[in-house]
Amino acid sequence: MVTEKAGLAASGLAGRFRRSLGDRAVISEPEQLRTYACDGLTAHRSTPGLVVLPETTEAVQEVVRGCVEAGVPYVARGAGTGLSGGALPHSDGVLVVTSRMRRILEIDIANQRAVVEPGVVNLDVTRAAAPDGYYYAPDPSSQQVCSIGGNVAENSGGAHCLKYGFTTHHVLGLELVTPDGEVVTLGGKAPDAAGYDLVGAFVGSEGTLGIATKVVVRLLRAPEAVRTLLAGFASTDDAGAATSAIIAAGVLPAAIEMMDELAIAAAEECVQCGYPDGADAVLIVELDGPAADIELQLAEVERHCQDNGAFEIRIAEDDAERAEIWKGRRSAFAAVGRISPDYIVQDGVVPRTALPAVLRDIAELSFRSGLRIANVFHAGDGNLHPLVLYDASRPGEEERAEEVSAAILDACLAHGGSITGEHGVGVDKVRHMPRMFTAADLDTMQLLRCAFDPRGLCNPGKIFPTPRLCGEVPGKRTGVHPLQEAGLAEAF
Ligand SMILES: Cc1cc2nc3c(=O)[nH]c(=O)nc-3n(C[C@H](O)[C@H](O)[C@H](O)COP(=O)(O)OP(=O)(O)OC[C@H]3O[C@@H](n4cnc5c(N)ncnc54)[C@H](O)[C@@H]3O)c2cc1C
Repeated sequence: MVTEKAGLAASGLAGRFRRSLGDRAVISEPEQLRTYACDGLTAHRSTPGLVVLPETTEAVQEVVRGCVEAGVPYVARGAGTGLSGGALPHSDGVLVVTSRMRRILEIDIANQRAVVEPGVVNLDVTRAAAPDGYYYAPDPSSQQVCSIGGNVAENSGGAHCLKYGFTTHHVLGLELVTPDGEVVTLGGKAPDAAGYDLVGAFVGSEGTLGIATKVVVRLLRAPEAVRTLLAGFASTDDAGAATSAIIAAGVLPAAIEMMDELAIAAAEECVQCGYPDGADAVLIVELDGPAADIELQLAEVERHCQDNGAFEIRIAEDDAERAEIWKGRRSAFAAVGRISPDYIVQDGVVPRTALPAVLRDIAELSFRSGLRIANVFHAGDGNLHPLVLYDASRPGEEERAEEVSAAILDACLAHGGSITGEHGVGVDKVRHMPRMFTAADLDTMQLLRCAFDPRGLCNPGKIFPTPRLCGEVPGKRTGVHPLQEAGLAEAF
């Protein structure tokens, strides 16, 4: 539980951690602390009380124990690229930054596994395995900077998750420091550990169940061949229909990405990607696997695009042409930043077949609000990333953008989807959780959280809208909790 004296205690811990971990591991200067005030969701900011940069599991354990003894909340942070405010610190708490835990401990090709520390950058796992012809499949667009620990906590996805699945499908074992300050190992290199799937529970828990200090991941053999196709369509409806037809035909591309008219225009202006003239939607379809299979599948994909109205199709003949096709997609978020002073990146997901309907809803929201919305998304997964454009200097526009952004999630829910596809709930979507889950659902999730973290010190205030204090019996809440009333605990 978080006491009112936690702020003082957090700064008091600086001395303890300097003695036990060394000066280099502790940041307490206000200017330096401010650089950790937010993650990739810059709208939410809070300067941490203290930042600690541990280099070993034992150091993480010491930090957690120190926080537990002082009743101080703490938050893990990897590279700080999260888009839901999951690594938002507490001004009265400690931020535990894993960026110095960057060792790749083992590349075990015989077992197709790697063992890495949490601060290892996603792409570095592939770089380490590449000389043996292997790679790490989950590829968030931020893979050049984001950490494996952050990927685990967010259950991150990426363009190629359509075929290969999300982080949870590639993590087999974890070492973590529990919120009690114990070091435990869950799972390992073997494919299926006995007992409850606690690795599965931890992956996607957004830093609320402890701090991962080692991660065992699956390595895959690099595919023999990769082919990439770009198709231009007159509408997102046609591109959506082509996506459904490809999957219904039993072809499973590594990636199917879609961009709409506004996203294409922004990308053209920014990187001159040369996408088909007059296209209101483009699809990028990437196939990988044995060369002979891929050629057959490519012909099938081409046919389904044509049957659904593609007016121009290009197939990359080499790596340079492939990179050229991906250039527009990869630049899309940054490109939108050039055509609008501000924008909100939304993240929702719907069943793939509901894509055309939800895109129509989004167009209607854009029309009614007068705000432009660009759509860039993982079409194969039904994972939408609508970018709501606004100008914060115009009175009321930011609030309108927030409303539109929230209404997009309602549309996703109405079409049988979810409020987040891959970016997590963090602080950003806390208020949307009751739209998707009943009070009983949320209580049940809290039971799991409290089993790991009875004191409520490990990344409090994230995911859940009405933080239940551990020990409180699930059920209808009436009035303020007695501990809050007594000033002994706070609800964030
Ligand atoms: C340009 C851009 C593109 C992006 N593209 C994608 C994409 O395609 N797909 C996607 O899924 N995401 C994407 N993201 C979001 C983000 O990169 C991912 O969520 C990523 O996994 C966050 O990693 P991180 O190291 O930056 O984590 P942070 O932002 O530092 O932390 C994220 C969460 O993980 C927790 N955490 C961090 N380390 C640990 C640990 N060792 N143990 C326990 N909890 C921990 C934190 O407390 C926090 O809740 C993108 C972000 C940007 C800025």
